[in-house]
Amino acid sequence: MNWNNIRYNKIVKRVHKYRSTMSTLSDEQLAGQTTLFKQRLQKGESLERLLPEAFAAISEAARRILGLNPFDVQIIGAIALHRGCLAEMATGEGKTLTAVLPLYLNALSGKGAILVTTNNYLATRDYEEMGPVFRFMGLTVAVGCSDHLGTGFTNEDKKKIYASDIVYTTHGSLGFDYLLNNLVTASSQRFLRPFHYIIIDEADSVLLDSAQTPLVISGSPRVQSNLYSLANTFVTLLKEGVEYEVEDKKVWLTEEGVHYAEVFFQIENFYDEKYFEINRHVILALRAHALFEKEKDYTVTQEDGLILLDSGTGRMMPGVKLRGGQHQALEVKEGLKDSGETRSIASITYQNLFLLFPKVAGMSGTIFDNKKELEEVYHVRVVRIPTNKPVIRKDLPDVYFRSEDDKFCAAVEAAVEIHRHGRPVLLVVSTIAETERVSRFLIKNQIPHNVLNANNAFWEASIIKEAGQLNAVTVATAMAGRGTDIRLGDSVDKLGGLAVIGIGRMANTRLERQVRGRAGRQGDPGTSQFFVALTDEVVKRNQVDQVNKVLSGKYRCSDRKVTAIIKKAQNLEEEYAIRSRKQSMDYDKVIKKQRNLIYALRNRLLDGEIIPIQRFFEIADENINEFLLQHKILNAPIVNRYILDNISYHVSAANHDLNYQNKTEVARELKERVHLSFQQQKDRIGNEKGFNSFIQIAMLTAIDESWVEEVDYLQQLQSAVMGRSFAQRDPILEFENDAFDSYHKMEIRIKQRVVQVILLSDVYLDDQENLHIIFR
Ligand code: ADP
Repeated sequence: MNWNNIRYNKIVKRVHKYRSTMSTLSDEQLAGQTTLFKQRLQKGESLERLLPEAFAAISEAARRILGLNPFDVQIIGAIALHRGCLAEMATGEGKTLTAVLPLYLNALSGKGAILVTTNNYLATRDYEEMGPVFRFMGLTVAVGCSDHLGTGFTNEDKKKIYASDIVYTTHGSLGFDYLLNNLVTASSQRFLRPFHYIIIDEADSVLLDSAQTPLVISGSPRVQSNLYSLANTFVTLLKEGVEYEVEDKKVWLTEEGVHYAEVFFQIENFYDEKYFEINRHVILALRAHALFEKEKDYTVTQEDGLILLDSGTGRMMPGVKLRGGQHQALEVKEGLKDSGETRSIASITYQNLFLLFPKVAGMSGTIFDNKKELEEVYHVRVVRIPTNKPVIRKDLPDVYFRSEDDKFCAAVEAAVEIHRHGRPVLLVVSTIAETERVSRFLIKNQIPHNVLNANNAFWEASIIKEAGQLNAVTVATAMAGRGTDIRLGDSVDKLGGLAVIGIGRMANTRLERQVRGRAGRQGDPGTSQFFVALTDEVVKRNQVDQVNKVLSGKYRCSDRKVTAIIKKAQNLEEEYAIRSRKQSMDYDKVIKKQRNLIYALRNRLLDGEIIPIQRFFEIADENINEFLLQHKILNAPIVNRYILDNISYHVSAANHDLNYQNKTEVARELKERVHLSFQQQKDRIGNEKGFNSFIQIAMLTAIDESWVEEVDYLQQLQSAVMGRSFAQRDPILEFENDAFDSYHKMEIRIKQRVVQVILLSDVYLDDQENLHIIFR
């Protein structure tokens, strides 16, 4: 039987049936259900069959502990989440409680269930609110995030956290933990269990809005390059439309530009692999100048230098850096002393992180719009869960303007008018600067109000909670206070509920629906309306020529035409976003193949797989053959150098009779030395166990060193190929080819390093049989 086809309503009925039994149980008997369920699972019963009873039991527990009785629509949402769907549930429908049901059911298997949300505040709040229900039912619960991504806890702490049945955390913490878990050097340091089931809260934000910013762990700085300032100077000499073109948030050199670069840098072919670094730095500098705008994408402060701004909220993001050298290129553009280029040592995109789970579910107030894209990329079903009560909010038609000032004035006037009756108003804008602008207008009108631009999720949540009270006027950016719902104060419903006024066209209709959804929760009355203008960022970005034409006043232009331009701009923006999400997925697909191979190899080593000694000698032989292949002419200095670098520090015992013209003889000599050196290392350690663990550590070291270089290279390569995307070149294909080559080179490097580390490291066992290694 296909359980997925059983109709939701039928299951809800069954849950109710079991609820009546569960409600007669004592607390102890109710909690005891967990053990019974686990036993039945072990005997082979399926989760699907258990679902109605388990949902009934955990619902009854929620009622006893929290005083909340899940609504039918919440049970429907819970079934969808259990089935691994992305469920759209409107704001205020109670997603936090809904998630408790499938988390409980899936954790019964003993393999753990994780819920990720967008920030620490929300993760901790949900954990604190829902934790008691799980504990009552005899399961363990933990919160897995701290203020410092990945570093707040020791590995021992993390082991405990991830061993819990239920973990509440953020997607960032989980991602970093995944990467860190794959950087450990002993199996005892690993802290993650195999992934099992995950629910992503605010799934649209995580899967769509954060899709282009992969998580990157950075390590020690790479050698600083002075190419940044040279490339910067070069770029300032170029003219847009002549030497370079900008389109669709991409920038590239024209043929003239390439020619000019070849003259400027005195190179014969800009695209030659030899000049990869020049090419890369030019593209970075071009992007810094043409695609990044000061005060919109970043700002410069006296104390902290260049700081990125969140495009959604305009909030400063100290500590966050652009990848692949882009940050340094921006710093040089702004004439700042650059902060030093760090090396990426591990990276993953959120999409791929979640795809590591056998079962992924997600929930969000607004995700249905992207159904097609999400189903294609993630192969998950997107379903819309009905609301508990009908939505009676009125979404009023947009109001269009030609100028920025008119738009702001009209929006604030509308707010003032609504406020006169005591009805609460929420004004939503795109950037912090705009919150201040609106605030000034309100002050002029002597309207007391709250401005939400605190850099703190906790304060945002407490302010937004108050936004539904009588007389409240609140100004906020779109993302501020998300995840906290706005309840109406006494008698506010009679006035018409909360009025949401959106100022400015947003990047897509999904974000706008999110803003509208602030009003009208749980059948509340409310209104929403957007005030948009030709001068809105999204419009200018996508329809700049049209906008300039209209604004120049040379053409008569109907209001219908203005409306059409704005609409078209938003469509183009969204199409672009979908394309680039697809592209970043494609890039990561290539990296993922490599990452999987390396992580699997590491895990085998950590799990104690012993490399046969024979294999070591084979690798050493391959290296020697490669060396001989690369040198047409051999002589004593070359061969001795090879010995010193790879085999032994004792060249003095050189064989003076060696005939360097005879490669077979040289090979034999080198191979003999490998055996000798190997035996010496073995003797120095003395026992088999110690020696095996030395080999294991040496292998890991060699793999990690080379893999870190590869990850870093791939990050750089990505930004480099993006600049090559003109002239019928397919950047993904180029990336794939180059990545394939570099993987092969990495394999060769690993083999060389393994031999070097094993033969050249200083190694000994102390009295307590502790292994000491000084790597070479
Ligand atoms: P969402 O994340 O879907 O916007 P929340 O999970 O924050 O919603 O819940 C919104 C509010 O509704 C919370 O105050 C919560 O206590 C309340 N709530 C949730 N489920 C129920 C229920 N079944 N009965 C009564 N109140 C509920």
